Amino acid sequence: MFRKILLGFFVLLTVLVVVLVINAYRTSSRQIEVKAIPSVDIPANAFEHLSKAITLRTISYSRTASVDTNAFKGLHRYFKSTFPLVHSQLKREVINELSLLYTWKGTDSRLKPVLLTAHLDVVPIEKGTEQNWTHPPFSGNINGGYIWGRGALDDKMNALGMLEAVEYLLKKGYTPKRTILLAFGHDEEVSGYRGAQKIADHLAKRNTKLEYVLDEGLFILEGQMPGVAAPVAYVGVAEKGYANVKISVASPGGHSSRPTTQTAVGILSQAIVNLEKEQFDASIEGATKEMMDYLAPEMSTPYKLAFANRWLFNPVIKKIMLGKSTTSAVLRTTTAPTILKGSPKSNVLPANPSAIINLRLKPGETKATILRHFKDAIGDDRVKVEIQADEFNLPVPMSDLRSKSFKNLQKTIRQLFPESVVAPALMVGGTDSKYYRDLSKNIFRFTPLLLPVKDIDGLHGTNERVSKKGYQQLIRFYVQLIKNSD
Ligand SMILES: [Zn+2]
Repeated sequence: MFRKILLGFFVLLTVLVVVLVINAYRTSSRQIEVKAIPSVDIPANAFEHLSKAITLRTISYSRTASVDTNAFKGLHRYFKSTFPLVHSQLKREVINELSLLYTWKGTDSRLKPVLLTAHLDVVPIEKGTEQNWTHPPFSGNINGGYIWGRGALDDKMNALGMLEAVEYLLKKGYTPKRTILLAFGHDEEVSGYRGAQKIADHLAKRNTKLEYVLDEGLFILEGQMPGVAAPVAYVGVAEKGYANVKISVASPGGHSSRPTTQTAVGILSQAIVNLEKEQFDASIEGATKEMMDYLAPEMSTPYKLAFANRWLFNPVIKKIMLGKSTTSAVLRTTTAPTILKGSPKSNVLPANPSAIINLRLKPGETKATILRHFKDAIGDDRVKVEIQADEFNLPVPMSDLRSKSFKNLQKTIRQLFPESVVAPALMVGGTDSKYYRDLSKNIFRFTPLLLPVKDIDGLHGTNERVSKKGYQQLIRFYVQLIKNSD
């Protein structure tokens, strides 16, 4: 009897292994095979152009801080003098004083325009870190094969790179069939309300519909994804939303010498603890599921077995991903308590203590699902829950991966970075591109740069820099993308 059970067990195990292996090797690559393209000569003064643009301090401090309009206008003037063909042959509109919209009219008006977008503002240098920079942050120093400074990666590189590409094509006498729009917002780092949103409103008033939108986003990264040897070009095809939820407890307040056993602060604290314990549901779906489907065929054996057999391994993969804050963020709506308000005086019970919980919303989340989760997780009617109207952004759903636009982008990436593999992904941070959601179903957030892991810290941090080689390739990418979009 025992031998029979054992035999049965081994037969089952063998079948399972065979199924896993067949599944793993049946998944065919989703990468597009492309032919190599001749390399384009990028003028060497492109480096100086980016360098000079970095020296203009177009800083966004906060949504309410005053803006150095002269710095932005100086950058506008610098564009004019540096890209003469762009400024003589494209229509240029100044939107809300400091943002720019260029229109390069195509010959075929039946084709929907393409919008390439980047932002002109940069984040400030954190006080006390100025001395840690190898080259001063606004020097635009060109040294050791790099262009250094704030904005080198985020996001002057993309704005200047697009302008270089168009100037180059104009010099070659190229005229696009499809209209190309270049949109440069001036306040992306503090929400984009004054820049990108106004540009989008302007286009909507004209009833413009876009073929696709390409904005800054995820990079090409090497050695980040376990089991994938090739650099992975992550394309943000969906974007998380943003919300602040205020939770508060009404109380009569009073003198702290006569507190009740349970104070309003105690109730509020318990609510926060409950929210941390009861997280939003986590699941592998949407852009994250697509990412795994695209990467599984490119993985080495043990990983391929797991990722191609997610019907079996999903719980394990999920558990590993939930263990790290960077990977758990792509599985769920995250909750982060950020602001706490109590009493202004140590001997006064607060009348209305409150907390702000900052949420990054997974695609599919709505105001109703947020409120339901908060009510359920907190489980206490004394806690008032309000979604703040200010800064609320719904998540942007996934773009169509079967669209010509995505295939076109995928093809261009493979032409310029033939060693890389392309994978869709969920964009966890916010970008200006969300404002164009009503103008196009195809929104992509991708920065065409192979970013070495050691340079990632430069983003919003110290020693932001871009390699000269990387920047040249980025310009070539935009040249090719414009051609491929015709
Ligand atoms: Zn940026």
